[in-house]
Amino acid sequence: MTVAVRKDDLPELRREHQLHMGHGHDVAWLDKAEVQAEVASPLFEAGIWSKERTGTVQPAKLAWGLKAAALSLGVTIYEHTPMEEVEDLGPKLRIRTHDGVITAPKVLFATNAWCAGHKKIKNYVVAMRDRVIATEPLSDEQLSRIGWIHRQGIYDTRTQLNYMRLTKDNRIVYGGRIGYYYGDKTDPEGDRKIEVYDRLAGYFFKTFPQLEDVKFSHAWSGPIDLTTRLAVHFQPYYGGKGVYAGGYSGFGVTASRFGARLGIEMLDDTGVPELDLGLANSLPRPIPREPFRWPGAAITMRALDEVDDKGGWRRAWVKMVHAMGFPL
Ligand SMILES: Cc1cc2nc3c(=O)[nH]c(=O)nc-3n(C[C@H](O)[C@H](O)[C@H](O)COP(=O)(O)OP(=O)(O)OC[C@H]3O[C@@H](n4cnc5c(N)ncnc54)[C@H](O)[C@@H]3O)c2cc1C
Repeated sequence: MTVAVRKDDLPELRREHQLHMGHGHDVAWLDKAEVQAEVASPLFEAGIWSKERTGTVQPAKLAWGLKAAALSLGVTIYEHTPMEEVEDLGPKLRIRTHDGVITAPKVLFATNAWCAGHKKIKNYVVAMRDRVIATEPLSDEQLSRIGWIHRQGIYDTRTQLNYMRLTKDNRIVYGGRIGYYYGDKTDPEGDRKIEVYDRLAGYFFKTFPQLEDVKFSHAWSGPIDLTTRLAVHFQPYYGGKGVYAGGYSGFGVTASRFGARLGIEMLDDTGVPELDLGLANSLPRPIPREPFRWPGAAITMRALDEVDDKGGWRRAWVKMVHAMGFPL
């Protein structure tokens, strides 16, 4: 379900609804009363509810399932063995790790935000932190205050979007408020501090004030690979023997299946029609490097945090960042 948190967001939500309808998807429009009947929040003005072709994924189970599938095909997995260097041997590439080498004719680099350390890839990819908090399990009485009997996965239309879902044991997992650390750090000490999650918790209680007696049991974050496209792009290397596929910008749980498949088609030069898509053969807009990246990100984060409530210079800044290519 996508929910509009301001009346101004309704036209955009209508457009999204029409796009679904144009493709024949079974997506319901919910007016204020209807959305409140599904999930009660003083912020929700309207919603669209996609009832087919959508679902929620438990990402750890997905990873374990992929691992089991790979092992059943005879793949050997070496964990904690980072690629440290790539050498072009002509017909093959040699990947060096701390205690071994792998030689292969073709390599798909699917290293997500960690690639933001690479001298060329970093022109297009920023390593951001995406943050999540989880509540203790809600009692039946606490859950009844918000309804949510259909247990939809939800994201809202806030400029810095928030997303939320229920777990099997009725915790609410609530995410959003991305952050950036100087130099595209992928494991910053700063995100281990609990204060970093205060603002996210604040938005949780704005969304569900009727749950003010609920406590949080977990808070965590991870790196995402932000690009101006907010979707995958491909960068060929070593005369086409290597392809970097990434840039999912925090939307890659299902999209990375598509990205990986297309990356492999590219390496094998199969000529499938998808390779002619602009998505496959164009790059997103470049993003300024340090020392400009950090101050730019800091001002943008502040503007995004406050634009919906305070407007002013924040709106002008967000427009400028939009003009740079970020679809904010
Ligand atoms: C908190 C959080 C919430 C999110 N929520 C959602 C969501 O609701 N929906 C959604 O669609 N997406 C979500 N995402 C994003 C999603 O997890 C990613 O887009 C997706 O996992 C990308 O898949 P990937 O295979 O490209 O990269 P990853 O799953 O990140 O895998 C990259 C792998 O490369 C490895 N690696 C890095 N460097 C090297 C090296 N030098 N050598 C060897 N291996 C290396 C890493 O260890 C890692 O295993 C979220 C991400 C975070 C952090």
